Amino acid sequence: MEKKAFQAESKRLLEMMINSIYTKHEVFLRELISNASDAIDKIYYRALTDDAITFDQSKYYIKIEPDKKNRTLTISDAGIGMTKEEMEENLGTIAQSGSLAFKKENEIKDGHDIIGQFGVGFYAAFMVADVVTVISKALDSDQGYKWQSEGTEGYTIEPYDKQDTGTEIILKIRENEEEVDFDQFLEEHRLQEIVKKYSDFIRYPIRMNVTKSKPKEDDSDEYVDFTEEETINSMVPIWKKNKSELTDEDYENFYREKNYGFDKPLKHMHINVDGTIRYNAILYIPENAPFDFYSAEYEKGLELYSNGVLIMSKCAELLPDHFSFVKGMVDSEDLSLNISREMLQHDRQLKVIAKNIQKKIKSQLEGMLKNERDKYEKFFQAFGRQIKFGVYNEFGANKDVLKDLLIFYSSTEKKLVSLKEYVSRMPEEQKYIYYAAGESNEKIERLPQTELVADKGYEILYFTDEIDEFAIRILMDYDGKEFKSVSSSDLGIDEDEEKESKEQEEEHKALFSYMKDSLKGKVTDVVVSKRLKSHPVCLSAAGDVSVEMEKVLSAMPNNQNIQADKVLEINTDHEIFPSLQRAFEEDKEKLELYASLLYNQAMLIEGLSIEDPVAFTNDMCKVMAEAK
Ligand code: ADP
Ligand code: MG
Repeated sequence: MEKKAFQAESKRLLEMMINSIYTKHEVFLRELISNASDAIDKIYYRALTDDAITFDQSKYYIKIEPDKKNRTLTISDAGIGMTKEEMEENLGTIAQSGSLAFKKENEIKDGHDIIGQFGVGFYAAFMVADVVTVISKALDSDQGYKWQSEGTEGYTIEPYDKQDTGTEIILKIRENEEEVDFDQFLEEHRLQEIVKKYSDFIRYPIRMNVTKSKPKEDDSDEYVDFTEEETINSMVPIWKKNKSELTDEDYENFYREKNYGFDKPLKHMHINVDGTIRYNAILYIPENAPFDFYSAEYEKGLELYSNGVLIMSKCAELLPDHFSFVKGMVDSEDLSLNISREMLQHDRQLKVIAKNIQKKIKSQLEGMLKNERDKYEKFFQAFGRQIKFGVYNEFGANKDVLKDLLIFYSSTEKKLVSLKEYVSRMPEEQKYIYYAAGESNEKIERLPQTELVADKGYEILYFTDEIDEFAIRILMDYDGKEFKSVSSSDLGIDEDEEKESKEQEEEHKALFSYMKDSLKGKVTDVVVSKRLKSHPVCLSAAGDVSVEMEKVLSAMPNNQNIQADKVLEINTDHEIFPSLQRAFEEDKEKLELYASLLYNQAMLIEGLSIEDPVAFTNDMCKVMAEAK
């Protein structure tokens, strides 16, 4: 009998299958069952269009038969079957595999990845078997064929007498190896477990002879074993079940089974929409961010099913970037089984579903914020940054969707608050929503710039995430109230103080301009501070870029050296001020020393590094030496 060779690519894939010890071998069963189910689907579709064929429900099931004695596992179906040519084409070439086409962009480099995430279909059989035999007779065909392969060396095909249409796949299960227990794939209860785990929602019955025991008919207490064919899958996918039938645990199990994450989801949503567009979805908000979540490697997306059949494992089109953390699946009867990725992008139905889903996620999160604050804070801890990026990205295109989901630490409430809550507490005369940016709440608390606003009794939001200030700049205002940094030059607080400082500014004009010049371009101005109460100095920013933003920007890889226009603010009520005045009149060199010291102090308070720490300490020593 002639032996035919596999295509080069197929051979490589096969090698990977045979040698993959790190994957879950059990997925082979999912693949073979899914193929059997596809084959029955095909007959079903034919029956819909061809009067000569009737679909007799009772004939269409998938049978699993372990045989320990012969070490075989047989999976059979009465589906559409394969002709000789189809066997050659479908089982000898991976190019035919629809599921692999989805994976093209990643190539077939990493075997584990493909097998784990998607399954490579039929070839998965070689993960557990050293001989694979396929006996099949196609619909409309009189002759059956037997295809057989022992792995990479190739395969044989010969005519075979098969009575009924359909396919039978016989796996000669491998002997146990050090790393892998293959015996398990001959154990009834283990097979049942695998079917439950991966194929519970297959639409056709999966049947197996199950061993049971019953009391002997005589009066003894003994039992006898007997076998009975049982359907071992429930056939109803969880998303098609009634919500009232399901417990939190069911949803958690599904989350685990599907490998959506290793954590316990914070929330699940079960959506059944039965309008002009029909779909079911189960979505989850995870508790923890996956390790690669904030990296470019992270791939967002939901599983997409067409009437119970998985057509895509990560459909990115279903999720906006700002909700990329959501896991789950969508099943719609209105989507075609053979839809390609390119077509999906333009699919109108899918767009409607995506929009709908976005709304549901948003209202779910808002509900959580309102009614389950602890949970929401947990959520925000993990994914808040993504929400903030969402506000910032695309020039704020989604800011209105997201602004009510933001929470920040509040100086007065001492906890995280929403913008709505902040605004609702604002006294009538308060013009702005104040914020202060810094590394941590503790550091912000000590910032001199917060003094005036805090003294007024106004609430300050603490921005500790790098993205915060950028996002807020895009947001611009909330409910008509503009955001204002406590470091900004115009705080909009006291008219009187404003006037007073103007007058003082005039008075000390010469002093300040001397200080400014001596700092040689490090600051754009030296001014009388309106906000400082007890501290001597601080920095503020005159332009659009704040000092905090400068820090963030300079830490970026493609740093363009964008600098804040720094203004050195001096507290004229502070006891250092007379010293400055005296130095200005008597000893200009001393004033230069003081200016430099104050500037560096202000830099340190801001958490910025100073240019020349050695010069700074030398300056300090000079002052100490003089103060004898
Ligand atoms: P996919 O299912 O993604 O197409 P597979 O590698 O699982 O890829 O299967 C390859 C092809 O082999 C299928 O597309 C189908 O044409 C054929 N095939 C596999 N198993 C069966 C079966 N039980 N009955 C009929 N055809 C089958
Ligand atoms: Mg398949």
